[in-house]
Amino acid sequence: MPGRLRASSRTLDTIDERLIRCGITRRAFVQFCSSLMIAAPFGLAITDEKTPEDVAQGLGKVIRPPVIWIAFQDCTGCTETLLRTSHPDLGDLILHIISLEYHETLMAGSGAQAEEALRQAVDRYSGKYVCIVEGSIPTRDQGVYMKLAGRPAMQVLADVAGKAGAIIAIGSCAAWGGIPSADPDPTGAVGVVDLLPKKTIVNIPGCPPNPYTLLGVVLQFAASGTLPELDEERRPKFAYDRDIHEHCPRRAHFDAGHFVRQFGDQGHREGWCLYEMGCKGPDTHAGCSTRHFNEIPDVWPIGIGAPCIGCTEKSIAFRVPMFKVIQIHTRAEPPATYAPISSPQGTISPLATGLVGAAAGALLGAGYVASRKFSNVPGDQSLPGPNPPGGPGTPDGDPSTGPKASQ
Ligand code: SF4
Repeated sequence: MPGRLRASSRTLDTIDERLIRCGITRRAFVQFCSSLMIAAPFGLAITDEKTPEDVAQGLGKVIRPPVIWIAFQDCTGCTETLLRTSHPDLGDLILHIISLEYHETLMAGSGAQAEEALRQAVDRYSGKYVCIVEGSIPTRDQGVYMKLAGRPAMQVLADVAGKAGAIIAIGSCAAWGGIPSADPDPTGAVGVVDLLPKKTIVNIPGCPPNPYTLLGVVLQFAASGTLPELDEERRPKFAYDRDIHEHCPRRAHFDAGHFVRQFGDQGHREGWCLYEMGCKGPDTHAGCSTRHFNEIPDVWPIGIGAPCIGCTEKSIAFRVPMFKVIQIHTRAEPPATYAPISSPQGTISPLATGLVGAAAGALLGAGYVASRKFSNVPGDQSLPGPNPPGGPGTPDGDPSTGPKASQ
């Protein structure tokens, strides 16, 4: 675990110290750790513990990681995904867990004041802070299409990311250009990797990405100084190891050949597969089908009946038309372990029939006895419980055979 970050003018506190000082309950923090474990059950060192309490205990001792968040050509959706959670206190909690030193959308200051805050944060935590980049960077015409304090975005990126301990490109725009780079790409938009090819950069693509993926990477870096294992697109494997199609709730319909043919048709209303509506799930690596946004099941495109657009894939989103049907390149066959969709009707042996009959008889008998235990008939001298209609001891049954009250 890295030593305490010391700065010229202040010392950062641990997550536990901060939470106690700000009156955040342990329960809220353990709940957060539990969500982190669900979002990253494998492949993230900090969640490699047995229980959420164990994770909370380990993370509580970590120094709050200083984060400098710079935004270029973006819609602020990646910031929104971090803060617009279903529980109002989670947005608060996140801001207590990390030490957000600069974020021009969220900070109160602006203009020269904000620029000074950025300069101080970069100097104070040089080599130790996490630089998060949101949005693509314009490169055409010497980057004239976006300037911050008179400097092209390219230059700001080189200055701020160049002194960071870790660089994270959040969202598809920062990862490889995203929406601004779609044809005709008027600004020459590129991702962070294109401008800093020799740096270790973690891409967390998505439009927007899951906030727990970002927090998992930031907290692992703060806790151990390491980054999770990355795939060939520099995405953390723990979050992008499977394609959506593998765990899609509509997968059974794909396997059965039930496809939506038109928005609003019967199949669409019944939740059938969206492949023929242009769903890119079979070629898209992301965890949306199992790691829900804002802790609400089904809050994702396929969950609400829209095809996946492949926003975590460099070659799909904003490159391939949204409703165009794609060729499937990845594992799309039903796993061998799936039960067959239909199986031939078999026969039942006499022995099995006898056993089932005996079990059914026992259940019926138990049900009858149980029903007799809840009598509310005044003066009922029989066994507890009303007599079942048509049963023994009832006016339409045989009184002689009814159960007698014990004397
Ligand atoms: Fe789900 Fe899309 Fe695959 Fe259909 S094609 S099962 S909607 S991921």
